[in-house]
Amino acid sequence: MLIRLIPLDDELDRSYLGRLMRINGQRNEVELLNLIARWAGFPDKTRRQLPAIELLALASGMELQEFVRTHSTLPYRRSITSYLPMVEHGCPKNKDMLFISGIRLARDGVFLCEKCIEKDLLNEGMSYWRRTHQLPGVMVCDIHNETLFYTNDNGHFLFSPLQIIKSAIRISEDLATSARNNDAISRFLKIGRALMSNSAPISHIRSMTALRSKISCMGYRTHCGPSNSPLISDYLVKTYPHVWLNSIIPDLSTKSPGSIFYRIDGILSFTKSPSPVASYLLIAAAIFFSAEDALKSINSKDISFKKMKGQGRDRTRADLQRRYIQAKGKHHEMYSNSLAAPPLMSSHLKTLGLPNLIDEDGSSTLIAMRSFFCDGKSLKESAKLGRVPIDAVEDLIRQAGININLALNEIRQ
Ligand SMILES: [Zn+2]
Repeated sequence: MLIRLIPLDDELDRSYLGRLMRINGQRNEVELLNLIARWAGFPDKTRRQLPAIELLALASGMELQEFVRTHSTLPYRRSITSYLPMVEHGCPKNKDMLFISGIRLARDGVFLCEKCIEKDLLNEGMSYWRRTHQLPGVMVCDIHNETLFYTNDNGHFLFSPLQIIKSAIRISEDLATSARNNDAISRFLKIGRALMSNSAPISHIRSMTALRSKISCMGYRTHCGPSNSPLISDYLVKTYPHVWLNSIIPDLSTKSPGSIFYRIDGILSFTKSPSPVASYLLIAAAIFFSAEDALKSINSKDISFKKMKGQGRDRTRADLQRRYIQAKGKHHEMYSNSLAAPPLMSSHLKTLGLPNLIDEDGSSTLIAMRSFFCDGKSLKESAKLGRVPIDAVEDLIRQAGININLALNEIRQ
């Protein structure tokens, strides 16, 4: 006899497993799965023949593919893949994939929201583990905007969140604030959630082609070989808050500028990419103006890599330079609906060595920079003429020297 339960909205597979275990008085996962197998009439089948996630789907009364798509993290982990991309998520024919990867997690640890527990107790009479909280990079509840709590014990999924919250740790405010206030992180999370709703993976070749086209247009390197073009891994390090980036790829933020980081720079050229989906998401969220643009490009079946070289790239750069001159170096005066989103536009301009000449309280960074670069004045004199603090002028000069900065770093190695 098996007491069956209906899976709740956005409930993680392990959460459902834990609830079934508790209500049926089973001591562990193995006992519960054996009970479901006996109830379903397959007591002798091995877990390779009848994987855990298939047993959970049977207990729920849902079609296997529907259960996988709405309750497991498999559609996220396999959203972009080089391994059998034509196989739909939860396809019952691919037992090996369901056995090995069916109920794996997308990140280590268990994550929960205090307000969701209150809301679920009120609405459902119980608390449960939400799948969206377990995705990489999620530090804040998407429903309540509350900082999440966590523990490092994956076994806690078998208990109710209400039991675990007492011993859980709140994510640091530093980390949560960085995730709340960064547009690129918002795009990263939005693209990930949208890809997870696809019924089948996207071939990594298609994603790679979309990303390479965009990266080439921006003037970045699309391979790991020698080149004068800057690396996309350096661009990511500048785009994301390091405290957050460390939670996705721990050693990316500490790499030396100009040094190749194969898990990022390499995914644009490897034909069989072992990179986890987070690497693709980090790049896509950083280089596209909006999550919608990224999804349109990655999902497009009609894509071919058009490398922008020579004249095309020069025209783009010349156009940005012309606009920069017209706006007298003030980035916000260059924005318009026909151009990129402000943060991305600023990043493009910075890669060209065209810093934002912002003025405050009667100062003129334009006069200071013109004095230094055009009139040959000293740093101190230029700062005085523009009424700008010396360290602010120094910072602008460093931004203007981005290309020599990258070259010097390569010489150092
Ligand atoms: Zn919540």
